Amino acid sequence: MNEKLFKIGQKLISTGKLSTTEYKYLIDNRNEEITELLKNEAVKKRKEIYGNTVFIRGLIEISNICKNDCLYCGIRASNKECERYRLTKEEILSCCDEGYSLGFRTFVMQGGEDLHFTDDLLVEIIGEIKKKYPDCAITLSLGERSYESYKKLYDAGADRYLLRHETADEEHYNKLHPFKMNYKTRMECLKNLKEIGFQTGCGFMVGSPHQTTENLAKDLKFIEEFSPQMCGIGPFIPHKATDFRDEPSGDVELTCFLLSIIRLIKPTILLPATTALGSAEQGGREKGILCGANVIMPNLSPHSVRKKYELYNNKLISGNESAQEIENLKNSMKNIGYEIITDRGDIKEK
Ligand code: SAM
Repeated sequence: MNEKLFKIGQKLISTGKLSTTEYKYLIDNRNEEITELLKNEAVKKRKEIYGNTVFIRGLIEISNICKNDCLYCGIRASNKECERYRLTKEEILSCCDEGYSLGFRTFVMQGGEDLHFTDDLLVEIIGEIKKKYPDCAITLSLGERSYESYKKLYDAGADRYLLRHETADEEHYNKLHPFKMNYKTRMECLKNLKEIGFQTGCGFMVGSPHQTTENLAKDLKFIEEFSPQMCGIGPFIPHKATDFRDEPSGDVELTCFLLSIIRLIKPTILLPATTALGSAEQGGREKGILCGANVIMPNLSPHSVRKKYELYNNKLISGNESAQEIENLKNSMKNIGYEIITDRGDIKEK
């Protein structure tokens, strides 16, 4: 084994911290041996904290209407081919009813930045879900909002907020987003969410256009320093109605390698094996779990809208991806030695 590589790997395992240059070296020089070593250590740490349990979240895609125009995203405002929809409060609540009876104890409301979902409306929806299901956690993933807005949603009972930083490099950020969107605003939002008290999640796409290993190293350093409670990473997958349609998809093996590293940076982190990972390769989600992930977010949206929430081509919407197929998902986790449990699935922070 390359001695320098091994030393850096050992440093990560024992301290959970590396310099950006060391992260880059690890990614650039990764080989089978270091991948195996980090994977085994990541799984060991994850098992010390979470055993072999896997947390599930019911994902409700509340709207594909978005004011933003992120260059990579299938529901970007300028995609005129996208058939738009938004769920009503009643539809969202009925997703929760179904999810609760299937064993979900976290509901994730995700959507484009749809101005219809005002603070008042969201506060009302959060309040009703919490009243009906006080034993459940609510995660929001609704993009950038003001400090005051986040605070109102938190005070209404929302527990967690996912906002991927997308890239921790400002120049790269600008290559993925329109001029109107701003790296500093994104970082400010993440800081605010954490300050308010949300269990906060950041994350990025692996293999997004223009991404370098230096960018990835910066992402890892950012995660180390920001210390989020959750982190969502998945491969970039092109969408036919975006300018990135001909770009290659992100690499599944690299995504799994990064999942192991993130687990080692923060052993308690809630780390999903994402839909994008499952969509990029059959069995991708299982691979993610075997590399240190401990969360899966099956789709609980009404069947009629699932195809319309198309962030990228060939997004999985059926099979184990569907909340209704939870028994199959339980079996496929059992086959690899893991167990899905009915639990809110909060972070076990010391
Ligand atoms: N609007 C909210 C936001 O921006 O945080 C939530 C919805 S947004 C569509 C959720 C995530 O999907 C983004 O953070 C992005 O990383 C991911 N995503 C979008 N387009 C993608 C693509 N082509 N491939 C993989 N992931 C993608």
